[in-house]
Amino acid sequence: MKQVIVSKFGGTSMGDAQCMLRSAEVAFKQDSCVVVVSATSGTTNDLIALGKTAEKQSWKEAEILLTKIRDRHLKIAEDLKLNPTSSAELRNLFDEMESLAKGINLLKDCSVKAMDTLQSLGERMSSVLCTEAMNTVLRNNKSSKQAVLFDVRDVLRTDDAFSKARPITAEVERLCTEKLSFVKQGKHVAVTQGFIGKTADGMTTTLGRGGSDYSAAILAEGIHADILEIWTDVAGIATTDPRICPKAKPIAEISFTETSELATFGAKVLHPATLLPAMRKNIPVFVGSSFDAEARGTWVRREVKDHPLIRAMAMRKKQILVTISTPEMLHAHGFLFQIFKVFNDHKVSIDAITTSEISVSVTLDDSTLMNTKLIEDLSKFADVQVEENLCLISLIGNNINHTAGLAKQIFDKIGNINVRMICLGASKHNFCFLVNEDQAVETIQRLHAGFIENH
Ligand code: ADP
Ligand code: ASP
Ligand code: MG
Repeated sequence: MKQVIVSKFGGTSMGDAQCMLRSAEVAFKQDSCVVVVSATSGTTNDLIALGKTAEKQSWKEAEILLTKIRDRHLKIAEDLKLNPTSSAELRNLFDEMESLAKGINLLKDCSVKAMDTLQSLGERMSSVLCTEAMNTVLRNNKSSKQAVLFDVRDVLRTDDAFSKARPITAEVERLCTEKLSFVKQGKHVAVTQGFIGKTADGMTTTLGRGGSDYSAAILAEGIHADILEIWTDVAGIATTDPRICPKAKPIAEISFTETSELATFGAKVLHPATLLPAMRKNIPVFVGSSFDAEARGTWVRREVKDHPLIRAMAMRKKQILVTISTPEMLHAHGFLFQIFKVFNDHKVSIDAITTSEISVSVTLDDSTLMNTKLIEDLSKFADVQVEENLCLISLIGNNINHTAGLAKQIFDKIGNINVRMICLGASKHNFCFLVNEDQAVETIQRLHAGFIENH
């Protein structure tokens, strides 16, 4: 039987008409039945700026951004020779964008709810354009298939945690079976939006920045796909971000667990949650470049042949270290419970943690500081210190916690760079530590040179 393939194309792959046609060509060659797209490059940032500008500044300021976003899409529409129905669809989306921005401007209030609907327009506009690109490619290749625009909100049911909504897996699966399995008949390619979803009562939500990878994985799970493809601007997952180390090497094959750690600890190439649905349903994930589809790319699978000690490294920027201490806890119990309860009440997730008898240090994203109540609540029973401008460096590989001499190798390689905190032992796939943000790039470069380039 034919394989069911879900292919996701990121923002740069949607950059202009040529990028869209190139991406559509890739989807055609792969014979994908669901194509998930991001907003065109830069549009999500512009929509966020539009929301903030409309809230804080005059309508004139907001209009500049509106025009910028509209013009970018109109240029692509013109280059793709958009058909009248899709042109009308695009105009409706422009009208919706303007009405939303006007509402925000009049109320001088941009709630998370409003922001999510505003941001959803990025993916909704690009998917209209990409449907046209897909149909052009299908026609040029004399395919009998047709591309259809599919509103992902009809199947991607989420909770109402606006800006970081969580998919309701069982509902998504039921809705996909009901509304999206038509793609398996081989007559249609569904072109749909990443990043967005809908609550049970019809409100538009987003899954968090970079969430289109996650959307594609959820849909792959929902329609029981055989393969999930993530097409981006690099030819697969590399040993580290090629922007930091130009000598980063492509990885041919990597396990689900290592990739999950890599994504969670800062490798932007995949949204951290992407691997969850793939792992649940054991769907192999391919990561490749839509600009160079022939390049080898990376396969992410449950089982892989090689298990190197150090496979890759990543950095998670904008971290803070919160140290919570109280002498009252000497030889007492319940301290960790108290602390975790506060984090749980505030729905804040901790990345790395170290403890001593009377203190606990945790790393958090610096955006957590906006929640002043969290620090206030912790301060009710302990002394709280916050250190800012830190970066979490992670080495990802295998058997990390059982390899003698590894710590020595790591610290020899980074030399005089100060390490603020170390986290080792919980995972055999990850060794991570904190450094000052301004030394993070240098740290990765030294580690990459030592463990990968000169190995
Ligand atoms: P898209 O818009 O396609 O989702 P992203 O910008 O979100 O693309 O992710 C791709 C980027 O991820 C690459 O351009 C690269 O700079 C960055 N990146 C970070 N770490 C890695 C890594 N280990 N391997 C490959 N790319 C990485
Ligand atoms: N467009 C969204 C963003 O820029 C989602 C994505 O591209 O994955 O964050
Ligand atoms: Mg991305």
